[in-house]
Amino acid sequence: MAESVKPKVSKVFCIANQKGGVGKTTTAINLSAALTKLGKKVLLIDLDPQGNATTGSGLDKTQVDSTIYEVLIGEKTIAEAAKTSESAKYDVLASNRELSGAEIDLVNMEDRENQLKSALDKVSDVYDFVIIDCPPTLSLLTLNGLVAADGVIIPMQCEYFALEGLSDLVNTIKRVYRNLNPKLSLIGVLRVMFDTRVTLQQQVSEQLDRHFGDRVFETVIPRNVRLAEAPSHGIPGVFYDPSSRGGKAYLAFGKELVSRLVKEEKERKG
Ligand code: ATP
Ligand code: MG
Repeated sequence: MAESVKPKVSKVFCIANQKGGVGKTTTAINLSAALTKLGKKVLLIDLDPQGNATTGSGLDKTQVDSTIYEVLIGEKTIAEAAKTSESAKYDVLASNRELSGAEIDLVNMEDRENQLKSALDKVSDVYDFVIIDCPPTLSLLTLNGLVAADGVIIPMQCEYFALEGLSDLVNTIKRVYRNLNPKLSLIGVLRVMFDTRVTLQQQVSEQLDRHFGDRVFETVIPRNVRLAEAPSHGIPGVFYDPSSRGGKAYLAFGKELVSRLVKEEKERKG
């Protein structure tokens, strides 16, 4: 990619939803892979002590010598702690169970919600995109992600209670925007694990359109077994089976996100 079209400052996105098992990690991994495939330099930050984004990117979470934990407590820089994944081709700031202790360490630190942001500021000219995989909680870890981010991407399954849970997250985003991070915006809601045969999913999808309008991404990620299989091979679905419906959908999502950003940038400049 030519230097001239490369953004000077990396775009940082949180993949967040406090509901568990909705496809955050699958989205974080495959969006990182899609952007990499589009020629962007990407850092994936695993902010979840479960370490699923780490494993799914092909790194052994029990063997990594440095993780996001050392970065959050100020022991290492991101440049020191990030690893390049051979199978995924992007950089990963890994996580494992050790990170659950960070919550306790952070509570006593000054500026505790700003730790990730300060660390990321030092590498802002290294990456085009930083994708943060958040845990299924609205915890101090997620707060660090939201303070560091330019925007939030919410993956959601079109199920009956999905919209209800969403309001807590949207309220948290608004609070962080008002009090801690005036750059933060809701980039969009991504429909994942979608099954067109289920009438209820269609109905919830329509509700979502009415509620969020053009904040709902056009790309819809289908339920696809190849996406579910890929993590056990440590390869993002986008690379594991590029011709699968799931692999193609995440690549399309990467393209949609990039073109949305280009469009918004143009509108801002007038
Ligand atoms: P947690 O809240 O525990 O962090 P999560 O929101 O990160 O979960 P994932 O781990 O991405 O959710 O997905 C939950 C499960 O659903 C996983 O087993 C994953 O492989 C599967 N899955 C995610 N997206 C799809 C899809 N589009 N098609 C089929 N299976 C999927
Ligand atoms: Mg996850």
